Amino acid sequence: MFLSVKEMELRKIRFDETFEPGQIDFSGEHLEQASPLHAAGSAELLANTEGELRIRGRYTVEMAAGCDRCLGHVRFPMDAGFDLFYRPMVFIAREEEVEIDEGEAEIGFYENGGIELEEILREQVLLGLPMQRVCRDGCKGICPVCGANRNETECHCRRESHDDRWEALRRLGP
Ligand SMILES: [Zn+2]
Ligand SMILES: [Zn+2]
Repeated sequence: MFLSVKEMELRKIRFDETFEPGQIDFSGEHLEQASPLHAAGSAELLANTEGELRIRGRYTVEMAAGCDRCLGHVRFPMDAGFDLFYRPMVFIAREEEVEIDEGEAEIGFYENGGIELEEILREQVLLGLPMQRVCRDGCKGICPVCGANRNETECHCRRESHDDRWEALRRLGP
């Protein structure tokens, strides 16, 4: 859904959209959209600004990914609000001269007369996910020696195995 500034000049845009998996591009992020993404909110052109937009709303979705440690399937139910400000791209050039006050750190930029809602949502979802995508706090991960999932099996590989191999190689040396 394209949020057009031209339309915002006339009225505030309200959106209430559902995006099925595949409609928002999460490729290259090792992520899967496991449920439809629902987003509702509004987009408006702020008065007395040079084209500044305010886009706010709320979204819900369930994302899925492989656990960083054991590769198991992890689901992330998300339900979050957003309140974002965007300026026309032409401002970037001037940004150096303009003093940016604290509250403006969250400002983004747009060009070509508007902004795609899908792009905003994609960014919000990526920002909203935890840095470490693990299936549980104490996930023990996969044994680097035998490949067993340590959450399920207690393998008896020695932790020092890796070092042992280096030791063996060293012994082979001159
Ligand atoms: Zn895990
Ligand atoms: Zn093992």
